[in-house]
Amino acid sequence: MRAFGYVRPRATEEAVRAAATPGAAYVAGGTELLNLMKDGVQAHDRLVDINALPLNDIEVLPDRIRIGALARMAEVAAHPAVRTRAPVLASALLNSASPQIRNMAAIGGNLVQRNRCGYFRDSGFPCNKRQPGSGCPARSGHNRMHALFGGSEHCVAVHASDLAVSLQALEATVLTQGTAGARRIAFAEFYRLPGDSPQVEHVLRPGELITGVEVPTGALAARSRYLKLRDRESFEFAVVSVAACLTQRGGRVREVRLAFGGVAPLPWRVPEAEAVLRGRPLDGASLAAAADAAVRGARPLAHNGFKVELMRRALTGVLTELGRQR
Ligand SMILES: Cc1cc2nc3c(=O)[nH]c(=O)nc-3n(C[C@H](O)[C@H](O)[C@H](O)COP(=O)(O)OP(=O)(O)OC[C@H]3O[C@@H](n4cnc5c(N)ncnc54)[C@H](O)[C@@H]3O)c2cc1C
Ligand code: SF4
Repeated sequence: MRAFGYVRPRATEEAVRAAATPGAAYVAGGTELLNLMKDGVQAHDRLVDINALPLNDIEVLPDRIRIGALARMAEVAAHPAVRTRAPVLASALLNSASPQIRNMAAIGGNLVQRNRCGYFRDSGFPCNKRQPGSGCPARSGHNRMHALFGGSEHCVAVHASDLAVSLQALEATVLTQGTAGARRIAFAEFYRLPGDSPQVEHVLRPGELITGVEVPTGALAARSRYLKLRDRESFEFAVVSVAACLTQRGGRVREVRLAFGGVAPLPWRVPEAEAVLRGRPLDGASLAAAADAAVRGARPLAHNGFKVELMRRALTGVLTELGRQR
């Protein structure tokens, strides 16, 4: 690993100033960043350790929960208000990584973790995300875990965060602080598709700090669920996952939100499938129609066509379970 400088500011403004210089990066739990630096995938001149900043709080307000960027994944998953008012969020976190990592890793770091494409993480291969213009071996190579939607000829990696899938369905807001001031970014606007610049994954400006996320609570958030399908039961990224929020009235769907993980470079909302379900009973016909709508436009690669059927089954499974809940 290359030598780098290290600072540990105690105030948010000081941290933002320290990270504004080129080559600087924030470090929270370090469970992602340090691995990437050790593997030579990323190099930084200065690490700004944000663990002394006052960003740990989980604040329960009447209509939302505000979660500090430094709250740990395990802590958020165990919080009683998160478990009862936004169970999809608690479940997405509990289905992420291992207990040790969840105790260490913070909410902000989880949201900007890099993808798990093996070519990206092995500096022996070219990769447009690591080195723009060098090529994308995943397009013709091993692409079982790659995208069905939203990829480009430059990159087909999927987003790795389970938390992000739940926040997409919950229509959360990302709170940030930069040298130009504070921003509130709607979750749907936070991530970027790869297009011809796959190295740019989100709309954070250089040195901009995530200070927290705000999760609206209410009937939809309270009746929500996360289903993660993976190759083994523990310690594994999603092959396909789905976050769902549902309300019903008179035996029919009143409102529904669905976001998939493991299928696109960002947590993938399926508004067409949601529209199919509104006003209909949750029966076999409406679930099949919603599943058709969710997978319409999928563009499988050589090895990931099986994910289309997994998406259909995940959608059916998660909504059937939610439909049974009183
Ligand atoms: C074996 C293993 C299995 C895993 N499995 C899963 C899984 O199943 N699901 C899943 O979702 N994740 C999984 N992960 C990823 C894990 O959740 C992330 O490593 C972790 O959430 C990153 O958080 P951190 O605080 O350690 O981030 P760090 O490593 O400290 O930082 C990660 C990135 O975020 C930036 N950053 C950190 N905080 C902020 C902030 N407040 N504002 C702006 N930028 C910031 C850093 O500069 C860095 O670029 C796994 C990781 C490992 C090692
Ligand atoms: S899919 Fe993206 S991350 Fe993977 S090799 Fe191609 S450019 Fe790199």
